[in-house]
Amino acid sequence: MADSATTGRMLVISGPSGCGKSTICKALLTDERVVFSVSATTRPIREGEVDGQDYIFITPDAFRERAASGQFIEYAEVHGNMYGTLREPMDTALAAGSVFLVEIDVQGANQLKQQGIPGIYTFIAPPSFEILRERLVGRGTDAPDVIERRLKKAHDEYEERSKYDHIVVNEDLDRAVNEVRELAGLGRAD
Ligand code: ADP
Ligand code: 5GP
Repeated sequence: MADSATTGRMLVISGPSGCGKSTICKALLTDERVVFSVSATTRPIREGEVDGQDYIFITPDAFRERAASGQFIEYAEVHGNMYGTLREPMDTALAAGSVFLVEIDVQGANQLKQQGIPGIYTFIAPPSFEILRERLVGRGTDAPDVIERRLKKAHDEYEERSKYDHIVVNEDLDRAVNEVRELAGLGRAD
């Protein structure tokens, strides 16, 4: 029988682009009980990223092969590139009793939920769309037309929030991180 002390759990973090998913995940990863799900992707590597750490960067052909051989628990096209969550690291992390942290888009989270994969499904919401725009501009990684596209998509993604077990509004970062930590059974950081 599964022992709750040694069986891990999956924490799914999703929400619109710019809502603060990566920032929150970075804070969660300071806890050694948390293991990040390194996705495979076909998008080009960005400056500062490390292959195998941020993502496993592969070609579209290699992605198709992995998908065909059942290596992904979900995969989706996001902003023109393929992204997939790998099954094997999840099995390893759960067997080790870790919190397996999966940061994916709303399509991917829907796929996992529809398969009945147990997890703590958490939607990160921005305090408002105006603040979301400010954060996307402030991040400085996207051109104005890309920001407008992401904002348009954010409205559709926001409509999906009721499908999640929890909604965390990322207004104050520390408060949001503590809320997620409590949902994952990690306790507060402070
Ligand atoms: P996502 O991963 O969801 O696309 P990011 O984590 O990249 O979003 O956050 C988008 C921008 O907003 C970043 O510049 C980040 O520093 C900033 N940010 C994240 N959370 C907060 C917050 N609570 N308050 C203010 N700025 C934030
Ligand atoms: P980025 O390319 O900016 O790192 O990520 C773009 C989007 O892809 C983000 O919304 C991120 O959550 C999502 N994403 C990252 N990995 C996966 C994955 O394995 N599956 C799915 N469905 N989405 C992912």
